Amino acid sequence: MEFTCRKCGKREDTRDWMDDFGAELLEAKMCQTCHFWEEKVLWKILGGKLSDNRGVATVVRCNNNHYLAYPMVDMKTVGRQFVGHGGGLFVFKMLDGTLLASNNVWCQGPIPEKYRTLLPNNAERLLTYDEMVEQGFVKRMAPFVG
Ligand SMILES: [Zn+2]
Repeated sequence: MEFTCRKCGKREDTRDWMDDFGAELLEAKMCQTCHFWEEKVLWKILGGKLSDNRGVATVVRCNNNHYLAYPMVDMKTVGRQFVGHGGGLFVFKMLDGTLLASNNVWCQGPIPEKYRTLLPNNAERLLTYDEMVEQGFVKRMAPFVG
């Protein structure tokens, strides 16, 4: 069934999606894109935390990208495929100046232009590798000698 998104006016077709999800879009009268980002707006309104089977994630918006930063994972006990970005360490400098480190970060992608007012960055930037070393998050690797 085709319908018009109440947020952006785009045509959406429930037949493009699995039955349950198509029905959810129709009920919300939203296209997939608006439905996806309206959920992120709701997360922000609800306090910027998300609890699921991976733990309690902090919602981070940095450089207009949307992330979920879960608690640190011991990579000796968990397979890389179950950890965001294969266990790569991210250290966000939040707007309040605090540092948020996670090796289990999942990215939801770039925030669309029209959602940037509703979903403003809450992190100033990511720390560079040198800054992560300075702050003690990582030990500097020995220089590569070819
Ligand atoms: Zn839409």
